[in-house]
Amino acid sequence: DENGQTPVLRAVKAAEARLVSEQTTKAYLGAEGDIRFTERLAEVVFGPSAHNPRRFGIQTPGGTGALRLGAELLTLGAPDSCIWMGSPTWPNHAPIFEDAGLLTMPHVYIDPVSGDIVLDEMLGALAGARPGDIVLLHGCCHNPTGTHFTLEAWRKLASFCNARGLVPFIDLAYQGLGDGLEEDVAGMRLLLAAVPNAFVAYSCDKNFGLYRERVGALWVQTSSPELTDLVKANIVAVARGLWSMPPDHGAAIVRVILDDPALAKDWRNELAEMRTRLNAMRMALAAMHPVLAPIAEQRGLFSILPIDPDTVADLRASHGIYMVDSGRINIAGLNPGNLARFGEALLPHLAAFPSRQALSDTVLSYPLPAREAAS
Ligand code: PMP
Repeated sequence: DENGQTPVLRAVKAAEARLVSEQTTKAYLGAEGDIRFTERLAEVVFGPSAHNPRRFGIQTPGGTGALRLGAELLTLGAPDSCIWMGSPTWPNHAPIFEDAGLLTMPHVYIDPVSGDIVLDEMLGALAGARPGDIVLLHGCCHNPTGTHFTLEAWRKLASFCNARGLVPFIDLAYQGLGDGLEEDVAGMRLLLAAVPNAFVAYSCDKNFGLYRERVGALWVQTSSPELTDLVKANIVAVARGLWSMPPDHGAAIVRVILDDPALAKDWRNELAEMRTRLNAMRMALAAMHPVLAPIAEQRGLFSILPIDPDTVADLRASHGIYMVDSGRINIAGLNPGNLARFGEALLPHLAAFPSRQALSDTVLSYPLPAREAAS
């Protein structure tokens, strides 16, 4: 929020109070978790096509749990498939899939100088994928770049995947924090309607502000209800081996909110407040210097500042401003109280650059350097 806090949302507080007073047991829920949670959430994620017998959903411990469960299912059913991921991506993506035993393959995603998505080059790189390979896509609000596909790009991706038999694996961790709950998933819904097989890993941890409660879900879509039944049997067995049953509290909060029209409305309103604030901070930062201009069009919590690690070190040492070496910042950390000071510290560094700096190889590459060193 604008005071630099990560508050508990109003609807979450209300749902928690209700749970405390009304809950009568802590008995196990079962490996699928809170089934009503997954059903209600599916309406938010998939809209009019929420009830699809070709899709099975299961509650997971956060978006990370959903990614790992999907990875384990792939290891079981398609161990030779390779998962392709654009550079840069969330640094945890490669470890999650590699630790499950899958081969990961980086591909070009953005232009290092402009920071824009280069779809044609990306599809050119993906031409090396074999049928059955997996393509990891961020559903919206890309972490770390804030970039997003146009609807046209989603359509192209859909026909590309169909033509080559590639399976999209969508990581949707920020629905509603870009342009709106519906707007943020319009492209993903187009893609899902066009392809037979797909994975969707979802996190409620940002859009419900539930971070430490670890709330997520995995949906797997196949070409037929019969295959989906098979997936269901296997996925539940894999989940049993990973965590047996997911934690209850966070998913129960989301279920209570989505089941109650007044709480759901208040959640949507508070999410809109967070989104509006984020986008206002983006506009203010972008207006400070021409090389920051793309930040206005980017969406979600993150963007990468076009600065080098020395500048990052100077901002830390001289100004007490902290960010990771890649220059990635969390836009939510900015507010009217600190924006001017941030600009005063940053702008002299940007003045040295006549144009945008190219992102360094460190930013564009993965896996994490520490893992490389360890191996
Ligand atoms: N995917 C992306 C792109 C993320 O940024 C994150 C969290 N930083 C996750 C997945 C995982 O979310 P969770 O905290 O719910 O595990």
